[in-house]
Amino acid sequence: MRTLLRNGRLAAGGRVGPGNLLMDGERIVAAGPELSGNAERVFDLKGAYILPGLVDLHVHLDDQIGRFELADSYLGGSRIAAQNGITTLCSFITQDRCRSLPQAMRDARERAARGTHCDLQWHLTPTTFEARDRAFLATLPALGWHTIKLYTTYREAGICSDDSRIGDLFRTLGPAGFGFLVHCEDDDLISGADADPSAGPQAHADLRPPLAELTAVRKVLGLARANRARLHVVHVSTAAAARALAPAREGDHGITCETCPQYLWLDPAWLRREDGHRWICSPPLREDREEFRDLARSGAFDVFATDHCPFCRGDKDDWDRRDVRSVANGLPGLGALLPLFWRLFEEDPDRAALELARRAAENPARVAGLWPRKGSLAPGSDADVAVVDPSGPEREVRSSLGEVWEPYPGFRTRVQASLVFRRGDLIVAEGQLVEADPGGRILPRFPEL
Ligand SMILES: [Zn+2]
Repeated sequence: MRTLLRNGRLAAGGRVGPGNLLMDGERIVAAGPELSGNAERVFDLKGAYILPGLVDLHVHLDDQIGRFELADSYLGGSRIAAQNGITTLCSFITQDRCRSLPQAMRDARERAARGTHCDLQWHLTPTTFEARDRAFLATLPALGWHTIKLYTTYREAGICSDDSRIGDLFRTLGPAGFGFLVHCEDDDLISGADADPSAGPQAHADLRPPLAELTAVRKVLGLARANRARLHVVHVSTAAAARALAPAREGDHGITCETCPQYLWLDPAWLRREDGHRWICSPPLREDREEFRDLARSGAFDVFATDHCPFCRGDKDDWDRRDVRSVANGLPGLGALLPLFWRLFEEDPDRAALELARRAAENPARVAGLWPRKGSLAPGSDADVAVVDPSGPEREVRSSLGEVWEPYPGFRTRVQASLVFRRGDLIVAEGQLVEADPGGRILPRFPEL
């Protein structure tokens, strides 16, 4: 079926202006100002923006983290995502003490097979690196697995990599076709931090100081440059780390970084409230958010992502008040991606549309190895399209449809994903899901497991 979107404002490929878009089946056929043509289905957008479907590069779904099962399955998470213009989700597969990497991949595939409204991609976190593990990993890029996620912290969980291992993986698995996402917080500085874990939620932030992020960023950046690895630093939370990354992002190819809505908009003073543990995440909420938002506006972050990590209310409240490190560590955010990054550029909607297209669609698709199939409105790309209306009905920002504590209470928005297409199928209209049977696809192919 051919679908024509007319009378919109195209925002993609670094340009914004009036235009139309034609899709046929699963693909985009053409986009531009003069475009017309026959179509079975025609939508008049009345000046709303046409963006590539958003790609959330950093989401945790359908997984167990520490003691807790996450509050969103692939299906549930993809619902709030689609309602906010996201058509591709990049989640994580983590090898742990009980499961080999192939077993963890099999589990993820089974869970995803229960359905998703978005297309799905994964980053892999291996934790064993014997010769046969590396040989297995090296077979994966040819099947569409493009990224490995590494941690410089969480030693007690068994997923921390030290400098020599990180350098070694950059050197050996980079040329095999992998890019690397790295969580940068230096575990030695964290374990040596002078803070009392029984002193309440604020202690969580004191235990993970800004210097831990900056130190890890500097080390990992040096290792990436020395080994010519593609590096993406996830959830940058401090201005100092952003500044340390800036010269490498401009000079090198393949050094990128992201930030998330919680580091732009949430107030670290809330950690001192009685219910402050509800805002615990790593890295923690930081001071000086005005300066950080200015950095985001000036292009300090290649990617806008969420680090969506939703816990049920009961699980978030289930901690012994003696040790803040026992709190379920993470915040939901999928439904906040569109409204809270748009808010950065609110006075200039053309700019907002362009920044979202670049940093929440095009760039994350590149980092994930999915561009130009995803994150593009060029002919031949998947017909993943988000039509965004900045003056929709006012609504509350809602991060997840699960039973979670909303981290953005009282935040309101009028930005609406008024139409969302995933590979040509209309899945959302007026911000509401209209797809009954979830038709999202698993993007990478699986080896014999
Ligand atoms: Zn994360």
